[in-house]
Amino acid sequence: MIRKSIFTCIVIAAAAGTSSAQLLKGKLNSKTISAAEKGVQAATFSDADAAKMAKEAVDWMDQHNPVADAKDPYAIRLNKIFGKHKNEDGLTLNYKVYKVVDINAFACADGSIRVFSALMDMMTDEEILAVIGHEIGHVKNHDSRDAMRDALKRSAIADAASSQSGVAAQLTDSQLGALANAMLESKYSRKQESQADDYGYDFLKRNNYNVMAMSSAFKKLESLSTGAKQSNMEKMLSSHPDSGARAKAVEEKAKKDGLYK
Ligand SMILES: [Zn+2]
Repeated sequence: MIRKSIFTCIVIAAAAGTSSAQLLKGKLNSKTISAAEKGVQAATFSDADAAKMAKEAVDWMDQHNPVADAKDPYAIRLNKIFGKHKNEDGLTLNYKVYKVVDINAFACADGSIRVFSALMDMMTDEEILAVIGHEIGHVKNHDSRDAMRDALKRSAIADAASSQSGVAAQLTDSQLGALANAMLESKYSRKQESQADDYGYDFLKRNNYNVMAMSSAFKKLESLSTGAKQSNMEKMLSSHPDSGARAKAVEEKAKKDGLYK
């Protein structure tokens, strides 16, 4: 089923450790830059196009990153945590783990959720659900057709992505890599992030999880951002509200709901 929005969200990205693979993103194809200069025409780029492009980009990333197979402990853990939420709030979601060192997770318009093993390593089950709930919030809130259009521009495949029929043209491997890269670098406004936080909180609440997991997840991210890797963090966190402030906002909501612990 096609979703109306495309979403990518950088929760946090850390260049921590070297023992496992780095997330493979695409390289920009300089040969197609001229296409981007023509821009993506709003009239020919629909919500359905955005979802279709998202699916193609995610498929590309699945092919080019180390995906945990069904017997992998990470896949087993995510399935146990999230399997029951595959049909959350009217969405049809699919999920996989990328075994990479980046501390991140994202979700897209076609319902694809990807969680990175390094993020799972540092979070409890409920904290992982808090992060995923935030990601689902971006999908549900339809934040992202414009972000996808922007990603297409930045990935220099504007012409390939739009057509008179409204169906995206076949993209080459390098074009898909460029699109995946641009998608992962999308930034949302602080307001969009706060609203996604609200959605994540409500996701935990309506499923009877401990809402405080959202606060503790942010505190863990904050402790990373003040650590040795700060210079790497700053760029990735620049569009996000301060993690400490986000944790505090969750705590205030929890107090009002009588769920503060
Ligand atoms: Zn976000």
